[in-house]
Amino acid sequence: MTFRFILLRTLLLVWTWFACAALRLNAAPLHRYQYNQMAMGVQVRITVYASSQSVAERACAAAFERIAEIEQVMSDYRADSELMRLCAKAGGEPVRVSKELFTVLKRAQELSRRTAGAFDVTVGPYVQLWRRARRGGAFPTEEELREARQRVGYEKMVLDEANRTVRLLVPGMRLDLGGIAKGYALDCALKVLQEHGIRHALLEAGGDIVAGLAPPATAGWRIEVANAAPERRWVYLALGAISTSGDTEQYVEHEGKRYSHIVDPRTGLGVTTRVAATVIARDGITSDSLATALCVLGKEAGKRLIRTVPGARAYVREVKE
Ligand code: ADP
Ligand code: MG
Repeated sequence: MTFRFILLRTLLLVWTWFACAALRLNAAPLHRYQYNQMAMGVQVRITVYASSQSVAERACAAAFERIAEIEQVMSDYRADSELMRLCAKAGGEPVRVSKELFTVLKRAQELSRRTAGAFDVTVGPYVQLWRRARRGGAFPTEEELREARQRVGYEKMVLDEANRTVRLLVPGMRLDLGGIAKGYALDCALKVLQEHGIRHALLEAGGDIVAGLAPPATAGWRIEVANAAPERRWVYLALGAISTSGDTEQYVEHEGKRYSHIVDPRTGLGVTTRVAATVIARDGITSDSLATALCVLGKEAGKRLIRTVPGARAYVREVKE
């Protein structure tokens, strides 16, 4: 009896060993491939490890397609995007929206509540005024800001989860997903790569980065965090996301002050404190929106917020002038 048991165990072990060896032989070695494409107003780069070029090409093409799809839903530069068609109905009945759009608006509103409105995707009317100034037009007047304020405020965006509808209460409201949609698009693109069997991947779009598994036999994708102290500058990222916002080249100068493209919803004006924030989180939708929020909140309040988010870390740099 004991002998038979030992024999059986040995046979099982030998079989397992052969099976593993066969699997290892079968698994083709992975090679690194990289592709670039313009999307969402920035250069998007995808790096993957795949068994062949054709596998990599097919997967990355599908990932770029997914990003284009999301851009068509969420862009505020395209009059025919789902987002802009929703805004056109502001002041009217609730509008049924796609799953993607609802997901992002719901996450945005949750963050608005947690930041007392520092992060707020209804800032569109303010952003419009800022963009006019950026194009060389007039700086917003008190009167214009007062008028815009009537059309801004996350509590004026009513979400109904059961019916998946959005109702914008005031005519002329305008949503702007510039602070959250890029991270979400990269999350979705990573899922597409995974569906194509690719597990080791890095997706970058401007200040937003989303990572799948680390490159084979490494601890993570090596990423430089310019806002961290020199000894903590390099981060090894895997299965997570990292976003940087603020203190960019995007600002308007008026009477000696620099106004960032990130708007403080309390004043309607671009943030004037020179803050740059980098956030590491579990996914892109979280890191992207938090990085934008932290630029409005500043270092102290920002760090307090980050402590409440599981798995999140932040590097905030306040530039003294
Ligand atoms: P970028 O990578 O373009 O610098 P960020 O993630 O820092 O983007 O977001 C900035 C964009 O977010 C702005 O261009 C605008 O579209 C939008 N935005 C500006 N202020 C706010 C705010 N207070 N809350 C949410 N979104 C904002
Ligand atoms: Mg952001």
